[in-house]
Amino acid sequence: MSVFTAVQRWADEEPGRIALRFGEHAWTWRELVSRIRRNAGAQLAAGLRPGDRVAYLDKNHPACLETTLACALAGTANAVVNFRLAPEELVYVLNDSTARVLFVGAELREVVDGIRDRLETVERIVDIGDYEDFLATAPEFTETREPAPDDCFLQLYTSGTTGHPKGVLLTHRSMLAHADAATEAFRFDRESVNLVAMPLFHVGGTSWALAGMGVGCETIVVREVVPDQLLAQLGRDKVTHAFFVPAVFGFFLKVPGVEEYDYSSLRCLGYGGSPMPEPLLRRSMAAFGVDFYQVYGMTEASGVFCVLGPEDHRAAERLTSAGRPVRGVEVRVVDPSTGEPVPDGEVGEFRIRGAQVMAGYWRRPEETAATLEGGWLRTGDAGHRDEQGFLYVEDRVKDMIISGGENVYPAEVERVLSEHPAVAEVAVIGVPDEKWGETVKAVVVPSGDLDQAELLAYCTDKLAGYQRPTTVDLVEALPRNATGKILKRDLRAPYWAGRGRQV
Ligand code: ATP
Ligand code: MG
Repeated sequence: MSVFTAVQRWADEEPGRIALRFGEHAWTWRELVSRIRRNAGAQLAAGLRPGDRVAYLDKNHPACLETTLACALAGTANAVVNFRLAPEELVYVLNDSTARVLFVGAELREVVDGIRDRLETVERIVDIGDYEDFLATAPEFTETREPAPDDCFLQLYTSGTTGHPKGVLLTHRSMLAHADAATEAFRFDRESVNLVAMPLFHVGGTSWALAGMGVGCETIVVREVVPDQLLAQLGRDKVTHAFFVPAVFGFFLKVPGVEEYDYSSLRCLGYGGSPMPEPLLRRSMAAFGVDFYQVYGMTEASGVFCVLGPEDHRAAERLTSAGRPVRGVEVRVVDPSTGEPVPDGEVGEFRIRGAQVMAGYWRRPEETAATLEGGWLRTGDAGHRDEQGFLYVEDRVKDMIISGGENVYPAEVERVLSEHPAVAEVAVIGVPDEKWGETVKAVVVPSGDLDQAELLAYCTDKLAGYQRPTTVDLVEALPRNATGKILKRDLRAPYWAGRGRQV
């Protein structure tokens, strides 16, 4: 059984129904399976063998999903690469992937030409513009191959927030388990129309799409987010399911008349992938007036592993929760240094177990061993669980500051500082301190005149002594990775150079 088998089933049962849409194009289930089979045939004709990697580098396009499904059939794996990476990072990730064939979109071709001679394993480049030719000249792969459950067919890279992006081995077992859990949590079914606007290099794009395809949803791939066009498309295409990161909700709210668009077909509007600020959530819920689902996931978990359903959005105190584990996932909250469980209400690291956990990282045995301990995945996220089993994500374990033996979670301090009128953006980090080991520093993008002493004084009655920033840096912008997440390691690096803390 593989994700491809599920797609084949729909082609057998309802060959003429629409499976996939992209712009003006639409393909039936029969056409989709034929395209996947020809993609698999072309891969094998290009000399690829089971276990080999292809890489895919483009903005969203159905060819990416077809290639992934073709890999599931051919025994190869699709390493989908973040098209927003800087050229240096692209060289790193493409070489790490060991891809022999590289699919490239038109907008990325120039960048690839610039790094071509540094790509160590790529033998052939296929322009997405020539993708139809690639398919047309290929022999259709007609076999029904039953893959091993632990074969990897999709290699997605982590966002690189805490280090270099890592290749995550997603398998038939993990992706099928994820698809089952997501189908139940988001109530996907054959009648659903699933909009995929999240980038396909991210689990929020590809895993979300594959979960819907498995149960026969019509899938709409969106090339890129143009907020007003996307809002209009929701009603026009009768979209029932969609998922966006918090930043995109921020864009939506700036569209004039955001409340006026037709959302009547929407049954599930997902948000997540990074922390959703509560005011943004409240305003988004008011603007859309549909069922909201909070999505907490990570690449290593094949996608979502915790969901806050619409019923739980009615209780105000739950709005900051990431929800409860999906079916098949167990969560423990432990002290990150000892691995011992902490009581409900106390902050610890989330560890998760279940069939949707990755097989490991690609070519990183040490990091795999350190991340997967006895079947439990260390998420690297710190948070707590309440008595009803709802999880609350607090921060990254790596970003935690230990000042005088007390744990400081930067997110808590950031919440306070971001309410100050002169603070546009803020990141809180730990810097070395003779007396306390570490002390709290606020790095602030000011929105106007900012008096640093006044900002420090502002925290006095809002935070405990050990949580309060002792210094403030003013900057023009915060460093972010290609997914938009703040790179705290870059902020910390100059302070810790030569002093031991792993930034
Ligand atoms: P890297 O692992 O390379 O440092 P990354 O962890 O940002 O990068 P992803 O797998 O894309 O890479 O992101 C998963 C992380 O995103 C989670 O571990 C968590 O920290 C954060 N996250 C995802 N969804 C949510 C959510 N709903 N609320 C809060 N944080 C979230
Ligand atoms: Mg991570």
